[in-house]
Amino acid sequence: MTKTDDGPARAQATSKAAPRNRSTREVPISEVFHSADGSVVIEVAESAGYCWGVERAIDLAVEASADDSRPVFTHGELIHNSYTVGKLAQEHGITHVDDHTAAPEGSALVIRAHGVPPAVKREAKDAGLQVIDGTCPLVDIIHRKAVGLAKEGYDVFIVGQAEHPEIIGIMASVAEAGGNARVLESVADAEALPPLKKAGVVIQSTLIAKKAGLIAAALVPKSREVKVVNTICHVTTERQEEADHLAETADVILVVGSQHSSNSRKLKEVCGAGGVPTYQVEGVEDIDLGWFAGKKHVGIHAGASTPREIIQVIVAHLRERLVQAA
Ligand code: SF4
Repeated sequence: MTKTDDGPARAQATSKAAPRNRSTREVPISEVFHSADGSVVIEVAESAGYCWGVERAIDLAVEASADDSRPVFTHGELIHNSYTVGKLAQEHGITHVDDHTAAPEGSALVIRAHGVPPAVKREAKDAGLQVIDGTCPLVDIIHRKAVGLAKEGYDVFIVGQAEHPEIIGIMASVAEAGGNARVLESVADAEALPPLKKAGVVIQSTLIAKKAGLIAAALVPKSREVKVVNTICHVTTERQEEADHLAETADVILVVGSQHSSNSRKLKEVCGAGGVPTYQVEGVEDIDLGWFAGKKHVGIHAGASTPREIIQVIVAHLRERLVQAA
């Protein structure tokens, strides 16, 4: 959906997509701001900001906090964004514990969108906690697919980052089902495997599709049978398509997101893959206006854990300095 904006006299926010001199692909664009003389364009990706899985987990936590008869904790920081984490604490009294064993009996424990090993939920319930499961339903699907592969007799491989909480949870689900999952972080990991009979693959929800495909393909010479279930979530796919689009059309790109957010870092990688200068910022204070000198087309994207308020502040900041001044 295209939004319009009530921009100031010298700048025009239009419902038209920016000129695409290097791409004809139709990619949804959220907001495009043109300077009055058309010399500068700021283009904001439609998918920039919270994904629905993260939004759902936040909503569940906030709803839970309406009952003030017990404290509400999240299992780890709910998202990798200090602004949102601070706001949840200040406005709703929601704080986090690093481990479920640290939450006092009778309190509510919100599981974040990445999910956890099944044992964590069981142990928390047994310890008298009210478990509010914010696991993204799309992550739940990956657990089920991986377990299904194990039950069908496949050696299970998860293409992703071994230390990522989503992967730790999936590994645990497979182990509980009697299977044995291994993580492949790189093509080299796949190439180092011994010969296999049946390899079954799932993929971390936020991975870059091309990279994951290369790793999965490296299993083909190793195994008589390879079954790949593409579990990259559609939100990630759309986000990466828009990143590809910005990489083709913009001449400088900002990715808004915490340095701790793995999907923001991946987004930066996709945006900058073609050589367009790409900067990852957490807030307006990180922006150096020198990055935009002589640039005509500014692309803005954001990770799944970035609140829209921060994106809006950054867009307003750049409009005032680049579009209105042009
Ligand atoms: S990125 Fe996809 S899988 Fe992950 S929380 Fe968001 S919607 Fe769910």
